[in-house]
Amino acid sequence: MTETSLPTLPPPGEREPSRARSLHLPVLQEPCGLGFASPPRHETLQDGHQRTITYLRISLTDRCNYRCTYCMPSEGIELVPKADILRLPELEEIVSALIRVGVRRVRLTGGEPTVRKDLVDLVARLAGLGLADLSLSTNGQRLTELAQPLRRAGLHRINVSLDTLDAARFRRVTRRGQLAQVLAGLEAVRAAGFRHTKMNTVAMRGFNDDEVATLCRYAFERDFIPRFIELMPIGEGTLGYPGTFLPTTELRQILRREFGSLCALSAAEDRPPGVGPARYVGVSYQGQPRRVGLISAVSEPFCDSCNRIRLSATGSLHTCLAYDDATELADLLRSQDPALREPLARQRALRDRIQTVLQRKRSGHAFTSAGCGGPAKHMVAIGG
Ligand code: SAM
Ligand code: SF4
Repeated sequence: MTETSLPTLPPPGEREPSRARSLHLPVLQEPCGLGFASPPRHETLQDGHQRTITYLRISLTDRCNYRCTYCMPSEGIELVPKADILRLPELEEIVSALIRVGVRRVRLTGGEPTVRKDLVDLVARLAGLGLADLSLSTNGQRLTELAQPLRRAGLHRINVSLDTLDAARFRRVTRRGQLAQVLAGLEAVRAAGFRHTKMNTVAMRGFNDDEVATLCRYAFERDFIPRFIELMPIGEGTLGYPGTFLPTTELRQILRREFGSLCALSAAEDRPPGVGPARYVGVSYQGQPRRVGLISAVSEPFCDSCNRIRLSATGSLHTCLAYDDATELADLLRSQDPALREPLARQRALRDRIQTVLQRKRSGHAFTSAGCGGPAKHMVAIGG
């Protein structure tokens, strides 16, 4: 472990440190490092708890080429009919309506978004809308072929899920994936010129808690940002409770043991591009300061600052991942009502419905560390 003179975090269980004491990481000022223009903002979208909504996660499909043990049963889930899945012009129309009311960042997710054959075309269309940030979450299986075209189409950033660097474990957790293919995909992401790539790991006791440092080193050496996600009681994730659930306090202990003291980050340094819920801590690796992201939905909820909504593959708006209820938007796009034929009328109808449903957005989730409080739906049905 390399020595560091940087300020240290308090022991586990205590509050995050003051951000005034800071680690000198390079400050990332531009939203995505690529100099894209600010989006045209017309209105602000606020929920009933005065939280401003700026971030949309879109599930492009409920299909997936993996069957991760904490996400899906081995036989998969009952799939929605293909005809119900939103087409490119419909997606573009909803995103345009949301940009008009203040959404500035969009993440494409799923299911596995790369199984959609029109993904590159969709990215090109959305990139033309002037979003501050357009990103993708993927299991990485198809990135060797897609990284370059996605970059050319205007995608800003990619997050790759990677739970282990051990090939046998990888096969066990994904049931179908090939680790070598995903690692090659990560290299392709670098070669394509993407920056601020995040590596997302669901932290699980007895599965990958012995790989925290290995995953961090792998990420640091390639300039990726490692992030550890608490297992959520959603879908097959509930089966991991209580034994597999690894709270973030324990992750901090592991990081301290492996890298020495954890460092406070200033507000500017804390946030790599994106507006996700991760809290970042700094560690020193080979004399260089590095960030590690911790996403602690269960043990340290971040609902007070929630800025996001989710669109399912069939066009249902979920205001919270933790609940099953959703509001249909697709019917407005597919309506035969003459009053909705005009694009502007549809945009107004979309805006009104979104604003109404947002007043009912819950103040927070009800996840417990015993593994209760999650939705009945699987994450792939809502959009991860
Ligand atoms: N297929 C893509 C992927 O795996 O990145 C995107 C969709 S996936 C549902 C989005 C993220 O949710 C992944 O990082 C995955 O590991 C995570 N995830 C799935 N089920 C989870 C659970 N029960 N608890 C915590 N994270 C989960
Ligand atoms: Fe598929 Fe992603 Fe779920 Fe794994 S976590 S089964 S890759 S949707």
